[in-house]
Amino acid sequence: MMKKTPIYHEQVQPLPDYPRLCGEQRFDVCVVGGGFTGLSAALELAKAGFRTALLEAAQLGSGASGRNGGQVLTGLAPAMVTVARQLGHAHAQMLWDLSVAAVATLRRGLAEADMADAFRPGFILAANRAVHRAELVEEYNYLTDRLGYEALELLLQPEQIAARLGTRRYVAGLVDHGSGHVNPLAYLNGLARAAEKAGVTVFEQSAACRFVHQPGGEKVNVYTDRGVVRADRLLLCGNAYQRHLATPMQAMIMPVGTYILATAPLPEALAAEILPSGVCVSDMNFVLDYFRMTPDRRMLFGGRVSYSGLPPVAVAHRLKRRMCAIFPALDGVPLTHCWGGKVAITRNRLPHIGRTPQGVYFAHGYSGHGLALSGFVGQVIAKAIAGDLTQFDCFARIDHRPFPGGGMMRAPLLALGALYYRLRDLL
Ligand SMILES: Cc1cc2nc3c(=O)[nH]c(=O)nc-3n(C[C@H](O)[C@H](O)[C@H](O)COP(=O)(O)OP(=O)(O)OC[C@H]3O[C@@H](n4cnc5c(N)ncnc54)[C@H](O)[C@@H]3O)c2cc1C
Repeated sequence: MMKKTPIYHEQVQPLPDYPRLCGEQRFDVCVVGGGFTGLSAALELAKAGFRTALLEAAQLGSGASGRNGGQVLTGLAPAMVTVARQLGHAHAQMLWDLSVAAVATLRRGLAEADMADAFRPGFILAANRAVHRAELVEEYNYLTDRLGYEALELLLQPEQIAARLGTRRYVAGLVDHGSGHVNPLAYLNGLARAAEKAGVTVFEQSAACRFVHQPGGEKVNVYTDRGVVRADRLLLCGNAYQRHLATPMQAMIMPVGTYILATAPLPEALAAEILPSGVCVSDMNFVLDYFRMTPDRRMLFGGRVSYSGLPPVAVAHRLKRRMCAIFPALDGVPLTHCWGGKVAITRNRLPHIGRTPQGVYFAHGYSGHGLALSGFVGQVIAKAIAGDLTQFDCFARIDHRPFPGGGMMRAPLLALGALYYRLRDLL
């Protein structure tokens, strides 16, 4: 029987259960959401001396942070050439530098938690078709010549990428030696332990269902079903899972389901044949496949999307078919887990980070590219709350537009748009 929970729960030491919020409590800052963004913000705030509460609707890591593909990537969801076209070179350069700092920060956090070995270096962006080759070359040239990034390697011959990936499915690839992969739940639990040690008060099973500003200011009362946090500042980090709290910024994101399949540990010889370079991989399709091998030699294969919020029928079967098209040798290997999670995408695929006129900070919409970035953004917002807005402004001045169609029509319209791109992937 295939399990529907992330394999990660069987690979890491669990966290303790945290209490539910009951009654009224007073803090300097209330953080909503116990994923990478919320936890790292809370950790930094506590280190800076703010009395900080974190409200989590379910358990820490039960959102995207504890169930993602584990790919720790530099950059943003769109190619940097696309970002530069949209925002200009100078802004793109700043965002790129912050994304590289995000990976370095994550690695430093792992090292401080004695988990430096958890990071496995190397990522390949794999070109499915000949038309992708020109895009790879353009991105390589922009990153190396204009953004000054030196950790890239371009593989333009099909046999070069076949040697790294153990499959002849791809025609070219861009290797980023600065990116890599990690067990995301191990990273999350490390953040949670550090936050607790720094003095953050964590409440689980405590969904914030509404918040009300105190008259004439930014002070706010945040209500759960059994209690209230009175705080000077509120930070919303519920991302695609932000239920109960209807806020205007939610029109800027679309929650999208994506799924991951895990095999049983592979025999050593088979694992050496598949992904011999040990890197993690994403392809260049709009609806992309992403995969990597875990240290215990399981293939984790991700892909498929659902815009309706419902899992597509027979998702495991379809993922298996895609996986075996790339690695035929995996046909017949037992499959042990298949789980899904929600990413929040924005229209321009850039994260939506800011502060409302009433002083509520928020961060969401990493568009499937938030493992490294979200934890870093949490720190950036904590610094902003403490008065340093430099990095915060770099994210906050990205222009965003709401999805068309309002609450009812957003998902069908996006599904239609995605169908167009999916058909284009097949051409
Ligand atoms: C299947 C999958 C694969 C992915 N793979 C990758 C990858 O390989 N690389 C990559 O870079 N990114 C990947 N991502 C994206 C990445 O995981 C996210 O960008 C990142 O985890 C976002 O972190 P977060 O803290 O902002 O949000 P989340 O981790 O989603 O956390 C939000 C939390 O807020 C809580 N919450 C919501 N509403 C409330 C409320 N009202 N009150 C209290 N709590 C609330 C939720 O329960 C949840 O725990 C993937 C995502 C998914 C789903």
